[in-house]
Amino acid sequence: MKPDARVRLEVFFAEYTLDYKGLIAKAANSLFPERTRLQESAVEEFISVERADNLLQGALTSFPDEEVALGEAQGRVLRVPVSADREHPPFNRVMMDGIAFRLGSFEAGRRSFRIERTIRAGERPFPLEDPEACVEIMTGAALPAGCDCVVPVEQIRRVDCVAEVSNDISPKTMQHVHRQASDYGRGEVLVRPGRRLDAAAIGVAASVGCAVLRVSRLPKVAVVATGDELVDVTEVDVPSHRIRRSNDSALAAALRLRGLKDVTACHVPDDPERLRDETARLLSESDVLVLTGGVSMGAFDYVPRVLHAVGVKALFHKVRQRPGKPLLFGLGREGQSVFALPGNPVSALVCLYRYVLPQLEKAMGIEAAPPERAALDRAYDARTDLTCFLPVRVSTDETGRLLAEPRPTNSSGDFASLVGTNGFVELEAGRREFPAGYAAPLIRWSM
Ligand code: AMP
Ligand code: MG
Repeated sequence: MKPDARVRLEVFFAEYTLDYKGLIAKAANSLFPERTRLQESAVEEFISVERADNLLQGALTSFPDEEVALGEAQGRVLRVPVSADREHPPFNRVMMDGIAFRLGSFEAGRRSFRIERTIRAGERPFPLEDPEACVEIMTGAALPAGCDCVVPVEQIRRVDCVAEVSNDISPKTMQHVHRQASDYGRGEVLVRPGRRLDAAAIGVAASVGCAVLRVSRLPKVAVVATGDELVDVTEVDVPSHRIRRSNDSALAAALRLRGLKDVTACHVPDDPERLRDETARLLSESDVLVLTGGVSMGAFDYVPRVLHAVGVKALFHKVRQRPGKPLLFGLGREGQSVFALPGNPVSALVCLYRYVLPQLEKAMGIEAAPPERAALDRAYDARTDLTCFLPVRVSTDETGRLLAEPRPTNSSGDFASLVGTNGFVELEAGRREFPAGYAAPLIRWSM
């Protein structure tokens, strides 16, 4: 087809679609009237960030737990304590390859020790009876009774079956020995519930014989991108008036990076019937629903009405924050958490990190730690009385203090500039001027 003919055809379809959409909008407004929604539910509107946090806290329920094999447990949240099945070390553990003998003999002037035997790691130790003798011993072996000192191989000279100890050393009692029970006693709690299992915690669990661990079940999360203007990532010839959709990819990636495995993403156009059917289906299959777009005041922003129609009870809609003002949170009939984030990519990502991820982590049992703070490296004018989420690049100064360099985006649609940032700081509502050195809570894109 000739290019101009194609453009004419596209314009025709665009206009036709707009007309058609106008009719659908009218029908939808009578199907899902905004007024009914507001009268029927006790949704709080245009609330502070603190109030939104409180409402989320009040709506929090824990995800159930399940057992997983140790090899699958990394990144999961522990729900039952890991305790010591015996003391550690369970024996006096030698920490250097060398010889072991009685320190009293050295102190009495002896420098030559007959090597009675060699003890390997893992070998049952027999007591050393002869105070004039020593044992050759390896790292990891149990120190035999009758020995209270280890001298490393670097400090001895071996002549046949005799070890000669240098005169320049001054060995101490139990040197190079990791003493029995010096780390922890039997029954001690080593890893507490609420901990995300990292390499150290997995190692500890293995050492006390936890082949299976009880952890939080991972929630099933559905991400839904809404919008008629959105085309698939694979689209090559994107019409000039449309855009590739990116929020669903970004949000799903952020969720997966936090260890969530069951995350699906899909796209629904601004069509109330289809949105209702899709939302109802996804709600019945998911623990958490995250929508983006269609939650503001536009004629085709159907999300609040549709959520109401499928039985979601909205707790709040619109938060006194920038970006991300249109945010909506509600609960499905079976207690599913439903977050409707604005469509603007910066707003969507900020809302996910500020509200969705913390809520999911608390529901998985993670203890909320006090937020990390970073000091603004220059004065900043927030130009709003709302809470301001400001993208920043972090660094440390020469004293080790964490600094945040403001990297405001062009608009909440300018997501390319987020790539150069590490996260965002939260600037409190009610003031605009923030001096250099102002310490603000920091949320990082990755931990
Ligand atoms: P909305 O909240 O639906 O009014 O969308 C606000 C802006 O965000 C519009 O410019 C949309 O085109 C854009 N937007 C919405 N959803 C997405 C998405 N999934 N990916 C990229 N941009 C989006
Ligand atoms: Mg939209």
